[in-house]
Amino acid sequence: MPTIFSRIIAREVRSDIVFQDERVTAFKDINPQAPVHILIVPNKEIATVDDVTPEDEAVLGHMFIVARQIARDLGIGNKGYRLIVNCKDDGGQEIYHLHMHLVGGRRLGRMLPRAD
Ligand code: AMP
Repeated sequence: MPTIFSRIIAREVRSDIVFQDERVTAFKDINPQAPVHILIVPNKEIATVDDVTPEDEAVLGHMFIVARQIARDLGIGNKGYRLIVNCKDDGGQEIYHLHMHLVGGRRLGRMLPRAD
């Protein structure tokens, strides 16, 4: 079964795509946590960071290049932003198709809430 992100990449499911090339697709998060919240997703289905292989090195690096460009295009390159990749249950990953969150447009505060 293709992931929801694969269906977005294939344009079978509507989404607000801001960038796409042969390696990655970037689209607006449906439930934004900040004024800018974009997901950058490899077109190839890689389930989690725990599943990456040396073969994926180029696409993973490309995700950073795309993130930098989108951040600049959206005017947050100077002030800064956060890139987040969640992995599996403890990491809070909901969609098992590896993706990078690009979040910004406001001060983001601490990286993690304090553990109790
Ligand atoms: P994660 O918890 O890291 O797996 O993040 C999954 C993200 O995907 C969440 O921020 C969701 O809001 C987002 N999301 C889920 N379905 C869609 C969708 N159809 N279009 C855009 N974003 C989505």
